[in-house]
Amino acid sequence: MRKQIAAANWKMNLSHQEADSLLDQLLASQHHLSSNQAVILAVPAIYIPLAVQKLNGKSNIFVAAQNCHQKSNGAYTGEIAASMYASVGVHHIILGHSERREFFAESDSLLAEKTEAVLAIGSTPIFCCGEPLSIREAETQNSFVEAQLKNALFQLSADQIVKVVIAYEPIWAIGSGKTATSEQAQEIHAYIRSVFAAKYGQNIADQISILYGGSVKAANAKEIFSQPDVDGGLVGGASLIATEFAAIINALKP
Ligand code: PEP
Repeated sequence: MRKQIAAANWKMNLSHQEADSLLDQLLASQHHLSSNQAVILAVPAIYIPLAVQKLNGKSNIFVAAQNCHQKSNGAYTGEIAASMYASVGVHHIILGHSERREFFAESDSLLAEKTEAVLAIGSTPIFCCGEPLSIREAETQNSFVEAQLKNALFQLSADQIVKVVIAYEPIWAIGSGKTATSEQAQEIHAYIRSVFAAKYGQNIADQISILYGGSVKAANAKEIFSQPDVDGGLVGGASLIATEFAAIINALKP
């Protein structure tokens, strides 16, 4: 059974005090997570020690990073290596978010390097893919996303790919309040799974969690997560509001 995951992406938001308070509110909402469910909080790097300390001992709740450098160490001022995150207890790293692709010119080949770097130290990449509005309007989203996956991930072995979490995030739905319909989400998630099945076999593809991201909120999470190939969500804006994110966690399949 693949994991059902509610992942929060706080992006570059909140003061230390606000982060502290949001973590407290989330913890107070007392989720019972099944062994098949996980909550992942991708907080700004500077709040990672705070989050790790607060979540210490909580099962199935993990702190994540929003990015990492592809090298293990060296003269890369301002950057953080995957192994550094691991050394403070962070073993999940978002890679290739559309904002990183757009504002920091992250290419598929760079993301291939980052993915390998994260896997090499035994951590879990949360690999983002998704098309811009022009591609959706041209109805070529399947081949666009397929190319992103092939270019960045197909050098991985079957043993490696099962350790990757995929986040499909149509760019036109991120932060826009415009969500893909559950049918649109299911259609492309099934397609993504078929891309992995063609390369690695159905058994491997069936083990890969594929999250949906793009204006997920309490009001639409259940409907989207109920789709057979949607294994939870990567959530931006709504993850900054404890009651919203708590309801999103509760919308996960068991
Ligand atoms: C995201 O940042 O990955 C995201 C999906 O944001 P939002 O939920 O705000 O659309």
